[in-house]
Amino acid sequence: DKTARLVELDKKHYIHPTTSAKAQATDGSPLIFSSGNGVYATSTDGERYLDGLAMLWNVNLGHGNKELAQAAYDQMMNMAYSSSFKGYSNEPAIELSKKLAEIAPGDLNSVFYTSGGSESNDTAFKLSRFYWELKGKPSKRKIIALNNAYHGVTVAAQTATGIPAFHNFAGSNIGEVYHAKAHLTNCELGDKNDPNYEGSIRGIIEKEGADTIAAVILEPVQGSGGVHIPPEGYIQAVRKLCDEFGILMIADEVICGFGRTGKMFAVDHWDVVPDLMSMAKGISSGYSQLGGVMLRDEIRNTLVQYDGVLSHGFTYSGHPTACAVALKNIEILERDHIIEHVQAMEKVLKDGFRYLEDKHKHVTNTRSLGLLAAIELYEDPETNTLFDDAVQPATVVVDECFDRKLILRTLGSHREIIAIAPPLIINKQEIEEMIGIIDDSITAFVKKLG
Ligand code: PLP
Repeated sequence: DKTARLVELDKKHYIHPTTSAKAQATDGSPLIFSSGNGVYATSTDGERYLDGLAMLWNVNLGHGNKELAQAAYDQMMNMAYSSSFKGYSNEPAIELSKKLAEIAPGDLNSVFYTSGGSESNDTAFKLSRFYWELKGKPSKRKIIALNNAYHGVTVAAQTATGIPAFHNFAGSNIGEVYHAKAHLTNCELGDKNDPNYEGSIRGIIEKEGADTIAAVILEPVQGSGGVHIPPEGYIQAVRKLCDEFGILMIADEVICGFGRTGKMFAVDHWDVVPDLMSMAKGISSGYSQLGGVMLRDEIRNTLVQYDGVLSHGFTYSGHPTACAVALKNIEILERDHIIEHVQAMEKVLKDGFRYLEDKHKHVTNTRSLGLLAAIELYEDPETNTLFDDAVQPATVVVDECFDRKLILRTLGSHREIIAIAPPLIINKQEIEEMIGIIDDSITAFVKKLG
């Protein structure tokens, strides 16, 4: 049949991203999606799944959105692609730039476009270093990122990524990137008595010297590293630290941006304006491949004083169709009050988490910021005891969820975390369906434990 044929061809010809190539080529049997509607995705064999992760935290307006498709169609019929190199531009890119300047925090008023998050972060690093060159401080080159960060897989982005499996894949890292321990608010504010001080961002800056450091990059909420929400005051502390030492702050809003956390951008929760802000994913709800870096006026004003060519840019920087889709995506976010909806649905999700925690003794550390959420499974939450690594509790529960037609994802070095990030349009009933399936799946897991 059709599915069997596709599976055979997939094994033979398709190298999948972030997948065991060996397993895929031998006994891999991927679920092949063929259509989607709202929070549901349907496979070629006709099974319908609740998409609890908005695919890769990106399909924020859900599947099968006709307005986004229409925006792409209209632009493609006019002119699918045109260049933005030397002397050329296009209307969707211009209008989107204006819109982004309106909705972005503070004076993040201009944008450099890419095709995704990794390219955005590489761009942010290059522009940071170039900014310091233009300022007459070429020694400011080092980048500080956080342990457990995920910033993508292009060569510089993978170097900044702090998750061991991705960091330095194929020995391809760039130099001059340092990793700090995450979420040490007191250290960043200057508490030298804290035993973690040396490993903090501040500790690294003091050791290396601020005159060697270009930028600090961080996700406002760490996503693939385990959905870690920073403690109150942390993001402000990093902003303050960067100001104190004259270091640029890069916020990676690739997952967090465009309403995911219940604000347009996650930094808005803490009223912090980063110097550069990376975006992708939710900017277009995955309907087109678009990313970008927003720059504060000081950086933009410095760049425009440079006489030479800014020798950085992608064929698809400012892709008209991608930008037209993003414009429509933001229009819908605002028109349909999606961010207010996310705030309301977070309450429903939290009720569900409370129910799971009350019912199942292994469920702990449930958390959410908007619809960016996670739960954890511990052998004994009271004594902070993890399951034996062989148990892989989240993997088992996520598999059980999959059998019950709910797609989620497992994270964490002990496979103890389950990430939950459904399309932002999810309603109360669909969240309750999701919680119900997780409930049953945990019950099945506990039964298997014996
Ligand atoms: N930054 C963050 C926070 C991400 O979560 C991701 C992807 O998951 C990236 C960057 C990389 O984006 P992309 O996969 O579009 O290159």
